[in-house]
Amino acid sequence: MVSRVIPVDPFDLVIFGGTGDLARRKILPGLFRRFCAGQIPDAAAIIAAARSPHSVDEYRALTADAIREFSGVALCNDDRLQAFLKRLDYVPIDARGIDGWAALAARLSPDRVHAFYFSVGPGLFADLAERIHLHGMASPDCRIVVEKPFGHDLASARDLNATLAAHFDEGQIYRIDHYLGKETVQNLMAIRFGNMLFEPLWNSQYVDHIQVTVAETVGVGGRGEYYDRAGAMRDMMQNHLMQLLCLIAMEPPAKFDPDAVRDEKLKVIRALDPVEPHHIVRGQYEALDGEHPGYREAVNQPRSTTESYVAMKVHISNWRWAGTPFYLRTGKRLVARSSVINVMFKDAPHSIFGPEAGRHANLLSIRLQPNEGITLQVTIKEPGPGGMRLVDVPLDMTFAEALGPEGEDPPDAYERLIMDVIRGNQTLFMRGDEVEAAWAWTDPIIAGWQARGEVPKPYDSGSVGPGDADLLMKRDHREWRGIKP
Ligand code: NAP
Repeated sequence: MVSRVIPVDPFDLVIFGGTGDLARRKILPGLFRRFCAGQIPDAAAIIAAARSPHSVDEYRALTADAIREFSGVALCNDDRLQAFLKRLDYVPIDARGIDGWAALAARLSPDRVHAFYFSVGPGLFADLAERIHLHGMASPDCRIVVEKPFGHDLASARDLNATLAAHFDEGQIYRIDHYLGKETVQNLMAIRFGNMLFEPLWNSQYVDHIQVTVAETVGVGGRGEYYDRAGAMRDMMQNHLMQLLCLIAMEPPAKFDPDAVRDEKLKVIRALDPVEPHHIVRGQYEALDGEHPGYREAVNQPRSTTESYVAMKVHISNWRWAGTPFYLRTGKRLVARSSVINVMFKDAPHSIFGPEAGRHANLLSIRLQPNEGITLQVTIKEPGPGGMRLVDVPLDMTFAEALGPEGEDPPDAYERLIMDVIRGNQTLFMRGDEVEAAWAWTDPIIAGWQARGEVPKPYDSGSVGPGDADLLMKRDHREWRGIKP
């Protein structure tokens, strides 16, 4: 299947933090891939900025290394790479200083989109917004891209929203959650609203429960200092899992446009019940045979009570979902890397095949990573003679197989989202009120843990997480699906 690539008009993209990890691993390789795909015109300019005093040539050489390492070998045709590197510029700037800003402003071409990507630590977001404004670059058609984390709690998110709003309209602010740029996450909307098959069944009358799992095999790595202040609840649940929950649970928007979609997502967050303390399990990973350090060692905090795992049962109090629980879990150093949404349908109301046929229910599994795709488990007759025995079989659509070369290598989430910024499409970005509503739901949960002095349950690295998370399901006569020991 050949995908249509629609080139964008020439633009200037400024990457603050252009020497950082995210720029090297995701943003620059992603831009290069879009350049190779013919989507970025030759006249576009990509201007990196950071404190390091690189010359433009040095920065191009660093970028070439990053692209060779992270963009996929097949794409690294040297002519294309050299043509792409010519688009790159570098300006040394301290986000909190005064030098470099006039030079940056002078690099911007008139009459085109100017996008400023804040790929720096969150402590600098407000400084950047203020200085872009101060140096006359906050024109009405410019846009800013703000990385996560967006605030640490409701109060800080409100402060940041207010600072950004002092210089930019909401329509210019692109709060990134890269989960929304994933192919399958968007497919969730296509499946729900592009088919007649699922939407009539997508409610508490037919759906028994829904599970969302985002499991990682990696530990906290070099992010220990940040992570220990955040934990899985702030780092993953408040944003990524919350966004997935919204897309699964929201009402059909009238159209696929930014405010229509985001209005519906916001209604879901506002309809979430407070979570009962006994419906939450927190965990913290322990060392694995000396191979990997345990969490506390990794963050260098021997008494840390920060969770690297959280599982919870959540209820949405609205007409569609009353009575259907959502089980959400995410954690680090688990047995497998897997992000999957499982929609468990109810059993058929009456079995004509008698009790010996067993209980069978349909399961729609939406795999975000790895091996993006969708499986619908259906019940059929077990082949062969000997009576009517039932068996569950998967109807499997793995995108790589179903969609050919384009499905094998879909654009990375960052590629897609950056192009959406340039095109001015905010649908897959979080609106300020959404982020605040998510914090308003999250804050009391964290405050409750602190008030009760709760300590996370230890779990083995390489396991499925703390045993209490299984109990959370077993109490409801259910079980987790998605990752296996
Ligand atoms: P990083 O590797 O620490 O890079 C930070 C960048 O900011 C560097 O380019 C650094 O360059 C620059 N910088 C630091 N202080 C500065 C200042 N005062 N003025 C101007 N530039 C400054 O961080 P990162 O991992 O790339 O993360 C960047 C942002 O993306 C963070 O908000 C992070 O939470 C978010 N994020 C990252 C990832 C990821 O996978 N890395 C994933 C999701 C979200 P100099 O030292 O040369 O100034």
